[in-house]
Amino acid sequence: MSLVRASFIDGSWREGTSATEVVVDDVTDGSELGRYRAAGAQDAADAVECARAAFAPWAATPVAERAALLRRTADVLEGHVEEIAQTAAREIGTPVAQGRVRHGDLAIAVLRDNADQIERLAWEERLGNSLVLREPAGVAVAITAWNFPIYQLCTKVVPALAAGCTVVVKPSELTPLTAVVFVEALVEAGLPAGVANLVIGTGPEVGEALVAHPAVDVVSFTGSTATGVRISQVAAPGVKRVALELGGKSACVLLEDAALDVAVPRFLLGWLNNSGQACAALSRLIVPRSRLAEVEAALLAGLADLRLGDPREEDAVIGPMVSEVQRARVTGYIRTGIEEGARLLTGGPDRPEGFASGHYVRPTVFSDVTSRMTIAQDEIFGPVACVIPVDSDDEAVAVANDTRYGLSGSVWSASPERALAVARRMRTGQVGVNGGAWNIQAPFGGYRHSGIGREGGRYGLDEYLEIKAVQL
Ligand code: NDP
Repeated sequence: MSLVRASFIDGSWREGTSATEVVVDDVTDGSELGRYRAAGAQDAADAVECARAAFAPWAATPVAERAALLRRTADVLEGHVEEIAQTAAREIGTPVAQGRVRHGDLAIAVLRDNADQIERLAWEERLGNSLVLREPAGVAVAITAWNFPIYQLCTKVVPALAAGCTVVVKPSELTPLTAVVFVEALVEAGLPAGVANLVIGTGPEVGEALVAHPAVDVVSFTGSTATGVRISQVAAPGVKRVALELGGKSACVLLEDAALDVAVPRFLLGWLNNSGQACAALSRLIVPRSRLAEVEAALLAGLADLRLGDPREEDAVIGPMVSEVQRARVTGYIRTGIEEGARLLTGGPDRPEGFASGHYVRPTVFSDVTSRMTIAQDEIFGPVACVIPVDSDDEAVAVANDTRYGLSGSVWSASPERALAVARRMRTGQVGVNGGAWNIQAPFGGYRHSGIGREGGRYGLDEYLEIKAVQL
């Protein structure tokens, strides 16, 4: 069991001052993994004031020094990848093989990429008689969700520090342990006191206090759309810059000539990333009606090869949900799908065989789903997929765009041109064509209810930079 100190402020760890005590449970068996007294509103205020005091000297630190700090942090984290993966397996339920890459390696890659980005950024440009300057935007607040805690911290804290901003970060109260590893790595790499501060507490108590604080200039949030709306409202009177990375209901579109032997296994991995607890998870599969039976057979065969298991086991591909609340939410949606008349191809709301404890859910595929069903519209955030049959490319595009979200997606066709033509028509922030690989330098973010702003590479840095024009 680990005892967490809830705040890292001005270079030292402190106990939280909230009345709330939080227990972090082990998702595999419900036992206690850690316990802490949460940070409170006073801790939030202290952290922001400290970040404000540290802003001017950090903003004036040469770019080369900021880049060097990020690279040293990446080097330190290299030694903690296994610890991060093992902690994430028990704290979140991410299978260890995925955790090493998606929690550990990805965080390290973001650190190194941001170091490179600021070294090649045009901090000053001439435009006619103007000198256009890029300057750090000020004090940034980062609020993150539980599903990829260390990666989400990195996609906010790292570009903020790279840009010359100081930061206060609030991870989800459910998953503080990997966030602590990240902050300790920054400290070991030589982070000056006050430049990055951590407060672990609840959203309504600590999150809102951070967002409302008048000394905060930028708020970057990852989480649900409902919380994103609330954060925008709280930030509005202070005219703060707000970036929102919200939910999704992303579609994988199989066109008639798609190679199912490649596309279906890739869809399964995109859907079951982090056991379906991923904002960009491909949770809808749009299929030509003429090939529905073939696709269903390929889904069943592919799923049989993906092991549901204890996330600490090397060959587990699907793990448990992050909490009992999340398990109940996901199984509730499975019941709704059955009630609304979707055809249950595999899975269901009961516990998977052999898993009497832990937050496990049976991977569930519904077929003959229509766009009007709740399971085709709501973000379920678990291992539940909807197969939606269509009769043309035009209908596939219309169905893909028929949700309030627009975060990610993919298209498969034997003709890359045909796939690209469909990708261009999808109203979503990212699309993979025939399995195009994830690129950490590409902009990531959502259309419509999936968010505002972009993370990743150059685009992520822009969220933390002000632009000034000096007329000469
Ligand atoms: P929530 O929106 O409930 O919480 C996200 C974060 O916001 C947590 O740290 C939470 O604190 C905090 N928070 C909650 N209420 C407030 C408030 N009033 N003011 C300030 N902060 C607040 O999301 P979950 O953690 O449940 O994450 C799941 C959701 O996040 C899914 O809908 C998913 O799609 C979305 N998500 C989006 C991603 C993207 O990049 N687009 C990536 C990952 C997830 P606490 O919970 O500690 O109280």
